[in-house]
Amino acid sequence: MAKGKINVAVDNIFPLIKKFLYSDHEIFLRELISNATDATLKLKHLSSIGEFKGGLDDAKLEVKIDKEGKKLHIIDQGIGMTKDEVKKYINDIAFSGAEEFLDKFKDEKNDSGIIGHFGLGFYSSFMVSKEVEIITKSYLEDEDAAHWICDGSPEYILKKADRKDRGTEIILHIDDDSLEFLEESKISELLAKYNKFMPIPIKFGTKEIADPKHEPKTTKDKDGKEITEDQKMITVDNIINNPNPAWTKQPSELKDEDYKSFYHELYPMQFEESLFHIHLNVDYPFNLTGILYFPKLTTNLDAQKDRIQLYQNQVFVTDNVEGIVPDFLQMLRGVIDSPDIPLNVSRSYLQADGAVKKIASYISKKVGDKLSSLFKNDREGFEKKWNDIKIVIEYGMLSEPKFFDKAQKFALYPTMKNEFLTFDELKEKIKPAQTDKDGNLIVLYASNAEEQHSFIEEAEAKGYEVLLLDSPIVSHLIQKLEGENSELSDKNQPVKFARVDSDSIDKLIPKGDDPVSKLDEKDKERLKGIIEEIVPKEKYTVQLEAMDSKSNPFIITQPEFMRRMKEMQQTGGGGMMGMGNFPDMYNLVVNTNSDLMQKILKAKAKRTEYVNQALDLARLSQNLLQGKEMTDFIKRSYDLMKG
Ligand code: ADP
Repeated sequence: MAKGKINVAVDNIFPLIKKFLYSDHEIFLRELISNATDATLKLKHLSSIGEFKGGLDDAKLEVKIDKEGKKLHIIDQGIGMTKDEVKKYINDIAFSGAEEFLDKFKDEKNDSGIIGHFGLGFYSSFMVSKEVEIITKSYLEDEDAAHWICDGSPEYILKKADRKDRGTEIILHIDDDSLEFLEESKISELLAKYNKFMPIPIKFGTKEIADPKHEPKTTKDKDGKEITEDQKMITVDNIINNPNPAWTKQPSELKDEDYKSFYHELYPMQFEESLFHIHLNVDYPFNLTGILYFPKLTTNLDAQKDRIQLYQNQVFVTDNVEGIVPDFLQMLRGVIDSPDIPLNVSRSYLQADGAVKKIASYISKKVGDKLSSLFKNDREGFEKKWNDIKIVIEYGMLSEPKFFDKAQKFALYPTMKNEFLTFDELKEKIKPAQTDKDGNLIVLYASNAEEQHSFIEEAEAKGYEVLLLDSPIVSHLIQKLEGENSELSDKNQPVKFARVDSDSIDKLIPKGDDPVSKLDEKDKERLKGIIEEIVPKEKYTVQLEAMDSKSNPFIITQPEFMRRMKEMQQTGGGGMMGMGNFPDMYNLVVNTNSDLMQKILKAKAKRTEYVNQALDLARLSQNLLQGKEMTDFIKRSYDLMKG
């Protein structure tokens, strides 16, 4: 038996280890299981090159709780260590590694990023233990087993042990303030979180299953009633992980069903199917594998609990992939696994890292390619999915120029008649009817088929096509599309978007033919005066217009520009400072050709009622009538009926 002292350069690091990453104490288990996995994989490697001849097909790890002894055991059948190796790897290398790690990051423990997820290694076990033992036997036949004991001071004991089996057992004497790690439920939870897809089977306890070799016999009793024998149960190891998750396989090995079942394996509480998946697989210039899923996104965008998970060689790292996966794809689900993502760095460093940037652009390229091929190979299917995926695509078009270019070919613009057109198809289709007198192509759209019904009807009666664009970021998107299509060229016609309720139909697409007004200038003047006196000036700008006599007498519109700027500001877009408190201003378009105008001009006693009634009806069709105004409207309507 030998006593030794670990070579400590800085002051004693053990108290530091305990304090460090307080909230992340649980990572000790992942670190120890990673070491045990590495030790097993190393032995498998030696075996594959003929350096090790023993059997290891069923090599597994085991996690064991000894509640009475207050101990937690992590046992592997891996490569093991000789006494000298324990000295070298545990006392020197691992220790100075931990020391360096702490020294580097002790001041940054509040960085909520990825930092700290990796690097502390074996010594993280002291975060939860008052003493740690290692009993280990090297795979080399004639080496003695070694026993290392350390109580959290720099002193340690290293002696011979009589373990016969190859491998390593780490015994943690759990500290009184960490007793939760002796609870089966806690350990299960941690294993499920960090180790669900580790490459070596992990045993945690046992379970009873029906004996697969025993087929219960069914016989008939004397009355002819069927009697089935009891199922024989057997006890087997409870393996908590799937060592060969789908993303580690080749796409050619997997069927649609496999992707589906992996989705549920990843998110056991998710009952909805995903729309489609993308298998990622690169080995140059960086290593990355993974599977991304497009979920249905129409319902509740905020409920982002099933997020993309980041793994490193099948070890779970985090489900906060900010900086690694492009922003617009963070709404997706699935896994990415890459050994090339530096994890013991702060998030700001990570975002500036060249390799990480390449990873992000690779991912958006792959997603773009997948969407292109879905569109080309199955347009009908793609159209059906459009409403569920559009938000991701639209967001991507806004945030990444390269993705915008690609998406131009498959982004769809649904019409009120449920046709899904690409932007080029749309332009082609509406060109004859919707080119205005200045040569602009006017794209009409609605954001809500119910609320803007009367406007939509008016536009369709003119033979115009109305799009239904209802995603929250659509104002940004059409702003961009206008920008991209603003220059007049041989091929291009400038494109402008106008929501159907942003003006009267003739003004939306002005054709240059001046409509005839039934009222002369004097009557127009008088009418305007009458109306302006009655309607609230601070809300409505009165605008006389000669329209079809069958069109509504009053129409409330909200200028496209103003509304769009307000919307863009609400959904987050710079450059529109000061618009926030701008009141909602509307135009009150008065149809001078409507018969009602004669009535208003002639009436004396009922004039105010008529104007208010017409105004309220216009408000009603725009969903603007509420509260007292609604009550007054109802009362007035009854009064008018009485005559
Ligand atoms: P890292 O795993 O990052 O190298 P650690 O501090 O976790 O750092 O471990 C230090 C070294 O100790 C390992 O590189 C390995 O050589 C050795 N080691 C740790 N755990 C085991 C184990 N279960 N079996 C064999 N060797 C181990």
